[in-house]
Amino acid sequence: MLNPMRDQTTVRAELRGDCERCFGLCCVALPFAASTDFAVDKAAGTPCRNLRSDHRCGIHAKLRQRGFTGCTVYDCFGAGQQVSQVTFGGRDWRSAPPEHARRMFDVFPVVRQLHELLWYLTEALALPAARPVHAELRTALAKTEQLTGNTPEELAELDVAAHRQDVNVLLLRTSELARADAKGRKKNRRGADLMGARLVGADLRGANLRGAYLIAADLTGADLRGADLIGADLRDADLTDADLTGAFFLTQPQLNAARGSAGTRLPESVTRPGHWTAQL
Ligand code: SF4
Repeated sequence: MLNPMRDQTTVRAELRGDCERCFGLCCVALPFAASTDFAVDKAAGTPCRNLRSDHRCGIHAKLRQRGFTGCTVYDCFGAGQQVSQVTFGGRDWRSAPPEHARRMFDVFPVVRQLHELLWYLTEALALPAARPVHAELRTALAKTEQLTGNTPEELAELDVAAHRQDVNVLLLRTSELARADAKGRKKNRRGADLMGARLVGADLRGANLRGAYLIAADLTGADLRGADLIGADLRDADLTDADLTGAFFLTQPQLNAARGSAGTRLPESVTRPGHWTAQL
């Protein structure tokens, strides 16, 4: 459960993965396929070959060089520590019976989705323009928090897609209110195929970019202030010197998947990925 006395900064910190308090769940529970993001195939529920017995990654400092870029992009929104320490009370999957471990791996993606919703709802509540729906957002936040505290059995049975749908209705209303407040032409690019698009210096203030495919798009110097970026695919998009001040529903995994620079202006809810400036 999130601390009820929290401020925005504390909540955001709680909704970030804390590997120190997790049993490497993302490295076991989730599948991946050999691709530009992962060097090998891995089935769900199977420990990654690079996972050490202390639940740490054996190649953490060289993930990109070793072909595991996908791992540097991922964040569990704090679901790893929640499932490890709260849902399963600190019992790790290595020392537990196989049934306990399987249940842990089944529950982890469910809690990850709930925590992602907590992230969006928290962001929505930080938007002054969304004040008309703040009461409903708070109710949805409380309901989602309550669900994260369910037992493993209840979580395994949860229809998380239905809950997502309910929350999404509220997030859509939030987006309309927030973008109405933004300056610019407020273009509607919801779900648009903008893969590889040349959007250098584009005016995307207050744009609806929900679920847009911006893979490898050139957004150098683009103005994305006040844009809704929920679910936008930013893999390899170039955000060099772009302005994302006040852009909302942008998550750290989305940003981690993009390229950028020290000149990229970011909303305060996310941090500048280390690989933007690091020498690879
Ligand atoms: S490479 Fe490292 S971070 Fe990625 S899944 Fe394997 S152990 Fe986890």
